[in-house]
Parts: sequence; structure tokens; C-alpha cells
Amino acid sequence: MTHFIFVTGGVVSSLGKGIAAASLGAILEARGLKVTMMKLDPYINVDPGTMSPFQHGEVFVTDDGAETDLDLGHYERFIRMTASRRNSVSAGRVYKTVIERERAGEYHGNTVQVIPHITNEIKDRIYGVAQGADIALIEIGGTVGDIESLPFLEAIRQIRTEVGPRRSLFMHLTLVPFLRASGELKTKPTQHSVKELRSIGIQPDILICRTEEPIPQEECRKIALFTSVVEEAVISCVDSDSIYKIPGILHSQGLDRIVLEHFNMQAKEADLSEWDQVLENITSADKVANVMIVGKYTELTDTYKSINEALFHAGIQTKTEIKLHYVEASSLETMDDTALAATFAGMDAVLIPGGFGERGIEGKIRAIQYIREHKIPFLGLCLGMQLAVVEYARNVLGLTGANTSEVDPTVAYPVIQMLDPQRDKETDEFRGYMTVGAQPSTVLKDTKVFAAYGRTDVSERHRHRYGVNLDYADQLQDGNLIISGRTNDRNLIEFIELKEHPWFVGTQAHPEFKSTPRDGHPLFIAFINAANAQKAARTEA
Ligand code: GLN
Repeated sequence: MTHFIFVTGGVVSSLGKGIAAASLGAILEARGLKVTMMKLDPYINVDPGTMSPFQHGEVFVTDDGAETDLDLGHYERFIRMTASRRNSVSAGRVYKTVIERERAGEYHGNTVQVIPHITNEIKDRIYGVAQGADIALIEIGGTVGDIESLPFLEAIRQIRTEVGPRRSLFMHLTLVPFLRASGELKTKPTQHSVKELRSIGIQPDILICRTEEPIPQEECRKIALFTSVVEEAVISCVDSDSIYKIPGILHSQGLDRIVLEHFNMQAKEADLSEWDQVLENITSADKVANVMIVGKYTELTDTYKSINEALFHAGIQTKTEIKLHYVEASSLETMDDTALAATFAGMDAVLIPGGFGERGIEGKIRAIQYIREHKIPFLGLCLGMQLAVVEYARNVLGLTGANTSEVDPTVAYPVIQMLDPQRDKETDEFRGYMTVGAQPSTVLKDTKVFAAYGRTDVSERHRHRYGVNLDYADQLQDGNLIISGRTNDRNLIEFIELKEHPWFVGTQAHPEFKSTPRDGHPLFIAFINAANAQKAARTEA
């Protein structure tokens, strides 16, 4: 029988609801329970696929090709689940379904309303995802008090009535700010946020209070009194230097015990040894690697969330402290070699992430040339790999002006070209089509990519419209550049690498989406190993 934990947030956004929810998921999983997670987002976009990274951060991609909220990334990093499109639902998606049904006459002439039609659709989706799980953690995006969250809050209120209080639990995240001037922690915003929640019929069972300073017991008692939450269920979550400490922080305050007591559920004690190992590796790191990311949204690290995390995970697996440095790609465009040398000085490895559109392209190509010639370990992801091919075509193969047809559809040497739309599943008016989701591929033996994965059959997630033009495949493989893997069904070039280089690998895929703190990801681990080797060699010299 599934038990539901609904996670809401109050006072301000960006409280780390996703991380708190996922951390609770991790502890419950460590108690041997089967956990699933779901994110409900109040925005009207059907999915975040078309939203600007400036506004929404990263678009996380699932195996089954859904473009989702980045919180799904946290879920997959914290618990052993493979998310699907069913685990991420926006208001836009819900409305779209209901409106399509209305147009198809399925409501038989009834007036279609938020309650019950929208709320029923939300509830159906929640019940659907929860099937088969002991615990379903359902996170509601946005902040309590927002107009657009109301249908979601109403739906979970109804579920409480339907399944009863012993099979449902409301966990609310709030902020307890510290006022530096008066040196005080303030509980009033929490009181107001809970008041708001109660006005729509939801009484929280647990409060997670985000705070800079530990909350004294007396203040917890006060919060408990004002909010009618039992005192031990007022949990403080003090800012932490690593998100992977949160499961331990919440467990030490008995959060999982409180949850199980609420559900009257039995489970073994939490075995957090894998998480302890993660933290142990972080604190015992004996190396430092400086990794540069040449990107377009360098002031907003949420845009590269999964990449940053995958690098940190590789650091955890190799006991390396990762220092990230971001540089704006367009700033490299006009740099001469001296300026480039200064930019890359002290860098042990460089990563070029995925991206769309023309901005920053020439700067990235310039960076790749420098990295290739100066033998700095390099990992190119999606667009990063495509531009490595462009750079090689231009500067090594002499195909002057070679480019991706994303930038110039009439270019003389389109070494990267749009994939055949006929072969792609997902089509819509605005985006045209996009290849999204997992693609199995085969890796060539005796390559750096094979050495990293230790196997020939791999599967990584994709999100792109362009790919290496197969007409140039023979020309590209000049003996130094190696096509080290292709997808099984489409013959898409999945991996490239350079032979005469310490570690220069590009992939059409987004391996960052499959990295976890407990396991890392083979390509990122190999990349950081190469960075460490580079640094050791440099130090010796
Ligand atoms: N813009 C490129 C394409 O569509 C790369 C996409 C990406 O990096 N995710 O193929």
C-alpha cells in the first residue's frame, strides 16, 4: 500500500525543496523501502524544454525522452530511481490534456472546471506514479500563496481525504531567517506561511526550517505552538557546504522515524553507509583539480547543474577536490594566444557543455583549438563535441570555414548537420523536432572511451537536433581523430577522441544526466583522472 508524502514550500522560492525531498527519499530507501518521487510544477509551459536557461536553469532529460525540471536530477542522484515523463508534470501539461479531452467531447457537454476536472487530472497522475511504491514523495513547485499552485494544493488536500491521514503526510519547507542587525532568528515568516497553507485546508505534519544558524529548542517550541506541529517534527536544516550531507542531517533529527511513526509503518534501521562513504571521500580528498567550463550562462550555475554535479561526483570517486572555473565563451573570440594562455593557465582540464544557437560558438572553437594544441584534457558534451569536430575539420583537415549548419545553413563544409527529421519521434511546431532520451550505442575497443566505460554497450541520454554529417566520417578519421562509438539504431556518431592527446573526448550525448554521487560516471571519472595526471606531470616539470 502506497503512502504519500507531499512536500510544499513557503516564504521564498529556492529553499532547496527538491534536495530536502530527495534526501528524505534517500533515507527512506536506506531503510529498505521502495520510494518514488514526482515533481508538480505550476507554470503553464507544457514542459521546460522551451524555457530559457536564464529563467529555468537546466532542462533535465529522462531515459524516455522527457524534458523536465532539474529537480528530477536531484531525485535520480539521491535515490536509485529512473525517472520518466510521468515523474514531472506541469500545470501546462495538465491543462493541455484536459483541453484536448474537452475538444474530443469526452466531457459530454459538462462545464469543464478547475475543480474537479483539473484537480482530477492531477490526482490521476499522482496515483499513477505512486503505484507499486511503498512511499511516493510528491513535490509541489512554487511557493504557497502563489495563485498558480492552488489546483495542485487542492488536489493533494483531496488525496489526504481520500487515503486518510495515516497514508498521507504534509511536509512543509520554510525559511527561518537570521537578522544580522539584531542577531535574531525570526519565526514569523514560518508562522505566516503555515497560516496560508491552513487557509486552504492543509495542516502540515512536519516542518523543515531552512536556516543559517541552528534553531534553539525554545524557538522550535514556539514554531510548534503557533503551527500546531508537534515539537519534534520541527526540523532545522542548517545551510550545508555539501548537499550530500542533507540525508545525514535530517536523519540525525529523526525525520525518517517521525515519518514511519506517522504512517505506522515498520522498516529496518537506515543504512546510510554509502552516504557516509560519499562524505568520507569528500573530506579525505588528497588532490585538487581545476576544471574550466567554457559556457554561455556562466553567471548561472543552475544551467549546468548536472555537469557540475557529475564533476563533483567524479571528484568523490577519485578523492579529488574539484574547483570549477567558468568562462564566458564569447569573451574568448577576440583573444590572442597570450590572452588564451593566461585564461587557461593553471587549468587541469576543460569542459565544453551543450548549448543551442550561435552565441559563443566561435569562442568555444577558439578554446578547443588551444586545448587540442596545448594538450589539456578535454571533454566536449553535445554541442561541445560538435564544435570539436568543426575545429578539427577547419584547422587540421583544412576544410576552411567548416561549421555546423545550426550556425550557417549554407556553409560549404557542413560537418555538423541537421539530423533527418523523418527519423525523429518528437515533433512540434515551434521546435521542429528534437532527438531526446536514451540511445544505446556501441563503443570501439582500444579507445579512451572504452577504457573509461570498460564495456562496449553503453546507453546515454540525448537532446539535440544536429549531429556529425556522416558524409565526412571517412575524412574525419585521419588516424588521429577516432570515431570511438556510434548509436546502434541510427548510426549517429556518439563518441570521438584524439589519439595524440592525453585525453580529448567528445560525445553527442549528455552523460552528466546519469552520474550519481555514490557511483560517479565512467566518462567524468576518466576525465578527472586525466586532469589529475596532467597536474602531476605539470608539477613534476
Ligand atoms: N544545438 C545542438 C543541437 O541541437 C547541440 C544541442 C546540445 O548541446 N544539447 O544539436
